[in-house]
Amino acid sequence: MMITGRQGKFSLLSTQVCFFREPDQDHDVVVDDLDKHETGGGRNALYCRKCHGPVTSNEERLNVLGKHCHSFPNPEGIVFEIGCFGLAPGCMRKGNSTTQYSWFPPYAWSFALCKSCKTHLGWFYEAAGKSSFFGLILDRLIEELE
Ligand SMILES: [Zn+2]
Repeated sequence: MMITGRQGKFSLLSTQVCFFREPDQDHDVVVDDLDKHETGGGRNALYCRKCHGPVTSNEERLNVLGKHCHSFPNPEGIVFEIGCFGLAPGCMRKGNSTTQYSWFPPYAWSFALCKSCKTHLGWFYEAAGKSSFFGLILDRLIEELE
């Protein structure tokens, strides 16, 4: 599916794309290059599907528990397909973090919203002594093709 936006052509991130882009090597959550990547606008940038604001980039994809993509139902039974990202400069956190219903115990989660349009894009995970990461709902992100 193609979407024409102000910044060119976009495609929806499919599970398949996600699968094929899964890194070859598993690595634990390591976020030690916090200033390595610029905020959005690059060739590998991923954008908010709703407002096309830059959110994160393909370089930020990482594996948590050995996988980049995870599917989880929330307490209401809605299944979310999320990808794990080290940084998401286009996200703002909302609410206090909690470990209740956490999909990645012992990580506590809080909401991650698009900074530009406040759409719920996923969750921010943090735990004492561990590197934090974002779990972003993949079908709420789009990718620039060229
Ligand atoms: Zn947005």
